[in-house]
Amino acid sequence: MEDYKQILVAIDFAEECEKVVKQAASIATTNDAELNLIHVVQPLASTYSTGLAGGFVALQENDIEKSALSAAQDELAQVGVKWNIPLSNQHVVLGYPKDEIHRMAKELDADLIVIGSHGKRGVRLLLGSTANAVLHGATCDVLAVRV
Ligand code: AMP
Repeated sequence: MEDYKQILVAIDFAEECEKVVKQAASIATTNDAELNLIHVVQPLASTYSTGLAGGFVALQENDIEKSALSAAQDELAQVGVKWNIPLSNQHVVLGYPKDEIHRMAKELDADLIVIGSHGKRGVRLLLGSTANAVLHGATCDVLAVRV
């Protein structure tokens, strides 16, 4: 197996994530690698109507996104405590999962991305849509942990 040094684990907070992080932690220990966690909060909408009412809706959505980011930070921190991953290696970002996971992997110069084969949304598929999208276009190895 490749000697991994920087591992990025994508987490959607589904129950099965436990198995995904466990597998990543085991690879990190074997390789003496650094572990990073990422959770991506998706924007509520990409377009807003214009005018006063539109501006108000946009403001409300902004607040909801802010509290979603903060809640995700808290939830990720719990995972961090459990697996002894420092705050500096916990990443919560706003955007689209595939794009942000790829972007973070590049930023960290990760050599392995670990994801679940299925998450909250992809249970009926052979490979979930996020897992599939991350696999395509990744510039490093991707491990899809079967869940
Ligand atoms: P899916 O393909 O959406 O069923 O999810 C498969 C896997 O992609 C999950 O087990 C996670 O590892 C990852 N994933 C899905 N959504 C997110 C998200 N919002 N943030 C980070 N990782 C995610």
